[in-house]
Amino acid sequence: MDKSLLTLLKHHFGYTQFRHNQQAIIENVLQGKDTMVLMPTGGGKSICYQLPALVFEGVTVVVSPLIALMKDQVDALRQNGIPAAYLNSTLSMAEQQSVLQMLRNGELKLLYMAPERLIGEGNFMPFLSALNVSLFAIDEAHCISHWGHDFRQEYLSLGQLKDKFPHTPVIALTATADGVTKQDIIEKLRLRDYTVYENSFNRPNIYYGIRPKRNHYDQLISYLEEHREDSGIIYCLSRASTESLAEDLKAEGFSAEAYHAGLERNIREERQEKFLRDEVRVMVATIAFGMGINKSNVRFVVHVDLPKNIEGYYQETGRAGRDGLPSEAILFYSVGDVFKMKRFASVEGNEAQSAIMLKKLEQMAGLCEAPQCRRQYLLQYFGETSPDHCGNCDVCLGKYERSDGTIVAQKLLSAVYRVEERFGLNYVVDLLRGSSTVRESHKQLKTFGVGKDISKEQWKQYGRELIQLGYLKQSDGEYPVLRLTDTSWGVLKGEETVMLTAPSKEQPAAAPTKQS
Ligand code: ADP
Ligand code: ZN
Repeated sequence: MDKSLLTLLKHHFGYTQFRHNQQAIIENVLQGKDTMVLMPTGGGKSICYQLPALVFEGVTVVVSPLIALMKDQVDALRQNGIPAAYLNSTLSMAEQQSVLQMLRNGELKLLYMAPERLIGEGNFMPFLSALNVSLFAIDEAHCISHWGHDFRQEYLSLGQLKDKFPHTPVIALTATADGVTKQDIIEKLRLRDYTVYENSFNRPNIYYGIRPKRNHYDQLISYLEEHREDSGIIYCLSRASTESLAEDLKAEGFSAEAYHAGLERNIREERQEKFLRDEVRVMVATIAFGMGINKSNVRFVVHVDLPKNIEGYYQETGRAGRDGLPSEAILFYSVGDVFKMKRFASVEGNEAQSAIMLKKLEQMAGLCEAPQCRRQYLLQYFGETSPDHCGNCDVCLGKYERSDGTIVAQKLLSAVYRVEERFGLNYVVDLLRGSSTVRESHKQLKTFGVGKDISKEQWKQYGRELIQLGYLKQSDGEYPVLRLTDTSWGVLKGEETVMLTAPSKEQPAAAPTKQS
């Protein structure tokens, strides 16, 4: 069996060996068992169902939400001599009929389709039932879960597959699932007697760095000057800002282009081609750029604006360093961006979904604020354990100097206690700094004005850090209030030492920042 799988791999795909756990996954699928695969983007998920499709008698149905990529995938398979086709709304009636005919004739090994097509109108299920379906492959499986970052209603109905095809194995694949999402995918797809295969999400050659979003245009320019020979992607939130930033960079003599979904198709393709051929060094893009693009020598990925969630951030930064050489992921962070993004983090008429998006945004902000190894934070998010120090992120390389902040923490926690855990961080900071704006009754408190020597910004930084460290928590809702936690008391009683980040020494001058 082993030998023949390898032969098939070489013969049909031209690879000399399996990567990671591809072989184990394929063997599990070939035994007719359900399978769940978590593998980072670019890890090689496709082979995990494409190769079994060749071994099985019948047809493998691949469900994917990425209609735009289906044609490329099918073309690539056909070039390898594998009979494949896709069904989606971009095909004409006649083209669809011809695909259906090929299916009836048993001529296809792989059929790609969008979920709405599979379950929705057109009575496709009965049609499929009459065929010999050997395997269902659910790509981007996190779309079935509300807990994922890209929930799609159409995916929910994929749960019916197990009713209609109780004996057909299912393989679910995703590049981005945290623990809850993973469990949810398994339940929603009703996988049975399944095995989960996970690859480490760690990308050791990528350096993670987060910089304050102050004068970030100037910071960006000097960064690019140090990387003149390198290819990189700069992600911006809006289409307009990709264009204006690309213009500014060109004016400074950099080889840059903008890319976003609002550009005409031929312009997008041309720019993408140029980037792939290293004729354009820097792509200034919205997140529309990068999916399905396989450029191995991207040396840096910069986020000028805060990504909406860790999944997106990780996927985007993961486009750096596919060749395994040292590469960098730089993010410019400001608390202001968190507030701005909060407005985007709501799904109209769906409060539960909005709450999840908000939580994910906060976890993203947490990455930027926690004085913890960035890689450890990221891997923890994806349910992996890793050492406290990776040695290849700004935190590990000494961005933060930490010192004994027990007294500071005690002041802040006791102020929270004295105002009966009913006020937010700004108010508590005002109280500590002895501001005249606090309530008269609070001016009598022992903590009133005990923190005059520390700036308002610095107090807020301490407050956020204490939240990250779990010594404080913030209530949900529009006006979050600070609350003590189980661990607060150890600090208040002087039983516990708190290490806090020392104020940064380089405080850049507050020169006006060029808007990008
Ligand atoms: P994913 O779907 O996980 O993002 P793909 O299946 O598209 O990844 O594979 C990513 C790249 O890795 C593709 O270019 C693919 O051809 C290549 N690849 C996959 N498996 C192997 C292998 N065993 N050996 C070499 N290259 C591989
Ligand atoms: Zn680290």
